Amino acid sequence: MFQLPTAVQFCLQTLRSAGIEAYLVGGCVRDLLLQTQPADYDITVNASPETVKQLFAHTIDTGLRHGTITVLQDGMPIEITQMRKDGRYTDHRRPDIVLPSTSLTEDLARRDFTINAIALDDSGNIFDPFHGQQDLNEKILRTVGDSNQRFNEDALRILRLFRFAAKLRFTIDPNTLNSALKQAELLHFISVERIFAELIKTVTAPEPDRLTPLLQCGGLAFSGLQYHRPLLPLSKLPVRRNLRFAGLLYLCDADAEQTCTMLKTDKKLRRYCKFILHALQQPEIDSPYALKKLLFQSDFPTVSDLLCLRAICTGRSDTQWQQMLQQLQQTPIYLRDLKINGTQLKALGIRNTAISQTLLYLIDCVHKDPSCNQTQQLLQLAQKYNESHD
Ligand code: ATP
Ligand code: MG
Repeated sequence: MFQLPTAVQFCLQTLRSAGIEAYLVGGCVRDLLLQTQPADYDITVNASPETVKQLFAHTIDTGLRHGTITVLQDGMPIEITQMRKDGRYTDHRRPDIVLPSTSLTEDLARRDFTINAIALDDSGNIFDPFHGQQDLNEKILRTVGDSNQRFNEDALRILRLFRFAAKLRFTIDPNTLNSALKQAELLHFISVERIFAELIKTVTAPEPDRLTPLLQCGGLAFSGLQYHRPLLPLSKLPVRRNLRFAGLLYLCDADAEQTCTMLKTDKKLRRYCKFILHALQQPEIDSPYALKKLLFQSDFPTVSDLLCLRAICTGRSDTQWQQMLQQLQQTPIYLRDLKINGTQLKALGIRNTAISQTLLYLIDCVHKDPSCNQTQQLLQLAQKYNESHD
């Protein structure tokens, strides 16, 4: 038997008591059968959202047009969607219309993979017209119905395929794989935001290198991501979104600025990737001074990630530099660490336009020799520097 949260049981029973057919569907059934914790619970019903809404005290109109409402039960959001069948697809992403249905099989048929097309009722009965359980047991990813048609209808499924392979470590059925790769150019029709979201889920999964066939066939080339060298090291990186994404860009030899702009990533990630990829092209880190220069351009967590990536993706040892980095926590690195400020320099008679350059000179002196970070000494250094640059 499956252990369902009380809130989910309550929803299923409430619906059934009202004479509505209600089933858990999609990812939660897959995860329950795999004996892993579902991220969320989705229910499909043969009733309209308006009808469902009247049965519960707290509901949110999440997608009335698509037949979905969210019930908030004991603080847990549970999506309840009217069974449906999809109309024709013409934009390779969404059906032109969705039609309500009262057939569970019809609702399961529109789902992407057999393992995501299993339903479960509150008595523990399983409905599995597309043999998803067999594929779960054999660890196979396979589309529901004709693969060519299913990827053609909605190209996002191509990325979901590789994401599930990376996450579940399942084999992709050869037919399904062929169709996905053959139609990979349809990814053009998918919004870059969705592509980015799927890529993040894939790189943070246990086996991100499962993306390799898609890179090799050029399916993501429009975003500057192409097969360059094996992605295997990615799985050895700590599971952090930004670190793993930067690793992907590095291994694909991508241009960080171009790819991040193209995929409309957040600015912070773009800056992070630009710094890391640039730093990886620089000569060896061979002194505390070199490490301080890297820190000066970014921050401790980013440089720590850089060292980790260097070690894992380029095979260079980073233990001594990680240790060194820890030791530098107490060392002056940034302008704010200087025992002098712009106002004091102004008082020395240094022109406004020369102040920032002087501060940069002073911090460089301090990077070379932290002991000179004393106000008097810095004032003298500043004076000499400006005399020689007048
Ligand atoms: P996750 O664990 O990442 O949430 P999931 O399978 O629950 O995985 P969702 O995006 O939450 O994925 O979708 C819920 C269900 O809706 C899927 O299991 C699948 O049955 C169906 N589904 C989602 N996206 C698609 C799609 N693009 N095409 C067909 N069916 C889909
Ligand atoms: Mg889900």
